[in-house]
Amino acid sequence: MARAARSPGRARAAPGAAGGIGFPAPVTASTPKDPSAAPSARAPRAFPVRTEKVRCVVCGADEARPYRGGMYRIGATSFDLVRCACGMVYVNPSPDGPTLGAMYDDPDYYTHGYNLGVETENYFARKDELLAHYDGVVAAYERETGLAKGALFELGSAGGFFLEAARRRGWKVQGVELSPPAAEYSIRELGLPVFRGLLEEAPFPPASFDLALADNVLEHTTDPQRVLQKLRELLRPGGALIVICPSYVNSPYFRAMQLLQKLVPRALLGPQTLKLLKFDGADNGYPYHILEFDLRALRTLAERAGFTVERVERSVPLPAHLFKARAPTLAQRLQRAIFRTLYGGMRIGALPGARVRLVLRPAPGA
Ligand SMILES: [Zn+2]
Repeated sequence: MARAARSPGRARAAPGAAGGIGFPAPVTASTPKDPSAAPSARAPRAFPVRTEKVRCVVCGADEARPYRGGMYRIGATSFDLVRCACGMVYVNPSPDGPTLGAMYDDPDYYTHGYNLGVETENYFARKDELLAHYDGVVAAYERETGLAKGALFELGSAGGFFLEAARRRGWKVQGVELSPPAAEYSIRELGLPVFRGLLEEAPFPPASFDLALADNVLEHTTDPQRVLQKLRELLRPGGALIVICPSYVNSPYFRAMQLLQKLVPRALLGPQTLKLLKFDGADNGYPYHILEFDLRALRTLAERAGFTVERVERSVPLPAHLFKARAPTLAQRLQRAIFRTLYGGMRIGALPGARVRLVLRPAPGA
């Protein structure tokens, strides 16, 4: 799926119900504004920020070492990343439940930098581009899973563009989305069946779906193990779950950047690439990504949730500011070459991924 590389789509979905588990419902009932409207100059919304110490979601240990200090910030509260002996990286102390709820209740969630700098345009303004992109993605999923035109479920369905593309290909679709403006956009503008809230609150009987997708969702959740178990329960025999997660922050690339950031001239990379790599010197926004998986951690969680891993795909999102530039500079062309080389190496499995995609099947007897 070369296209998938180009347009990672929403690189930062809401936890959809995913998060669901462990996430409280949004704390306010603000009237959502039209998310496709141009983003307003933004004054950060004030809400109480509380934190709690958390354990590793993979092995249960609470003896993690410092990994990156001051990675995220809400107002005056800064958040550090730690790394467990098992390899898992996570935010600790983490925002508590009500604080996470307030973060996702932000009506600007999908219109302000939710995509970590990979894309430069408003998610909703990319509707036509994304519908075309997702048509190719759904076709590729059909080919690789052997499934077609059944019942399809997306956890964290955002504005519904993936679901709409699937519906146009003959699938019966259903979404779950936690962000109120995104869910309401998909219902109002596309007429999609989207449950607004958390996965565990959604009224779906077991064995409801043939194909399920959790694209950039698990890293937002407080209990990915339970999310995966719930998704397995929702799958019919012979069904498949596709999980996509960023893995850059928990990768040798990020660790090398930590060491090299003082040696590589910042001008060579440019401000947008530095921001994308999370080394622009400023903070990286709210702690939406509370978990940073690597392939091993994802595999462990998936297998424990009763899945077998049928396929692993490693890749890196190709940043829009480099790959959509009309007249790229020399530095940009150099960076393109680097990204393409890394992408090629990842796809053949020779290099660790900055993003991983797993095709999972319910394990027999699980
Ligand atoms: Zn651990």
